[in-house]
Amino acid sequence: MKFKLALLLLLLTTSSLFAQDSLFARKMVDTLTSPYFWGRGYTNNGVHKAAVFLTSQFKSYGVKPMDGKSYLQEFNYPVNTFPGKMKVLINGAVLKPGRDYIVSPDSKGVTGTGKLEQIDSTHFVDKQNRIVISLEDKLTWSVEGKELDYTLVQIDKKAIKQLPATIDADIENKVIPDFKTANICGVVKGTTYPDSIIVLTAHYDHLGGMGSDTYFPGANDNASGVTQVLSMAKYYAAHPQPFTMAFICFSGEEAGLLGSKYFTQNPLIPLKNIRFLINLDLEGTGIDGITVVNATIYPHEFAALKQINSENNYLVKVNPRGKAANSDHYLFTEKGVPAFYIYTLGGIRAYHDVFDISATLPLTKYTDLFKLIVKFNSSLMNKR
Ligand SMILES: [Zn+2]
Repeated sequence: MKFKLALLLLLLTTSSLFAQDSLFARKMVDTLTSPYFWGRGYTNNGVHKAAVFLTSQFKSYGVKPMDGKSYLQEFNYPVNTFPGKMKVLINGAVLKPGRDYIVSPDSKGVTGTGKLEQIDSTHFVDKQNRIVISLEDKLTWSVEGKELDYTLVQIDKKAIKQLPATIDADIENKVIPDFKTANICGVVKGTTYPDSIIVLTAHYDHLGGMGSDTYFPGANDNASGVTQVLSMAKYYAAHPQPFTMAFICFSGEEAGLLGSKYFTQNPLIPLKNIRFLINLDLEGTGIDGITVVNATIYPHEFAALKQINSENNYLVKVNPRGKAANSDHYLFTEKGVPAFYIYTLGGIRAYHDVFDISATLPLTKYTDLFKLIVKFNSSLMNKR
């Protein structure tokens, strides 16, 4: 009886520990995707508020600033923003920003009404107002540093019943030539080999807002990865390791890997001391497993990762992939820093659109992925 009770208590404790992990993850993804952070971008101070929030998280865990002084590594770049008016009517009917249409991120703002001339099956032009309409199967937004001399409105084909004949647009844009932002950089010093460093990274910026009423929450991209890095930071601050554990939340990723570019050009730790770097971007699913970018460049580390996974049955699949310039690990790879970029597979299709929200992000394999990475990091340290 006593044994059963002890077992039951143990089961309850372990399951509530995991429950706490996933509660933390959900709470954090909910927080980072809330309107307060406005898509962690360029209007409503979104990305700045996120930086303040992440800094306070690092601090509360006991993670120290990487350079000993500040968690923030500041840099700037030009960006085209859409802070205000955002109105488009086609054939007299109002379209919903984000859902029915997006304004291409390099577009110029415009105010005007005009007739549309058909160019081909998916393109229409209002020559007078310099507006181009393109009909799309899926709307995918991004970030651009400059503006074109015309306005490109991309419309979801499903949002209109008839071919567009007239347009009524009121779109406001503003180019900021030196938008200021920062990477958030923290460390937990190693107990035995502080000069050997394992780095965990995730970009915290996303696309921000398009007009005053619409923002892109970026739950999978990349509130999920940031949350995983926060979990690691919290864990390693409480459990210091033989190696130094470093954590970087990059900004400027969506604008072209600009935060990691700045860091690799102005490193706060010697790049040669990085034993391994793991970049986390799109971590919110995992039902179909994970893909590991750079697996073929670092076959020994990949074999270790795969073995740990199969021994513990964490993920159904660990796919190898070669080099790819698709997230912040890339600039480290180019500098010779051993790195993996891990992303999760399956579950959702939302990407760079207003549907990438916390409510539909399953976080299926959040805890298993956390455990896999912690064990992988241990294996890197024991092999020394
Ligand atoms: Zn991303």
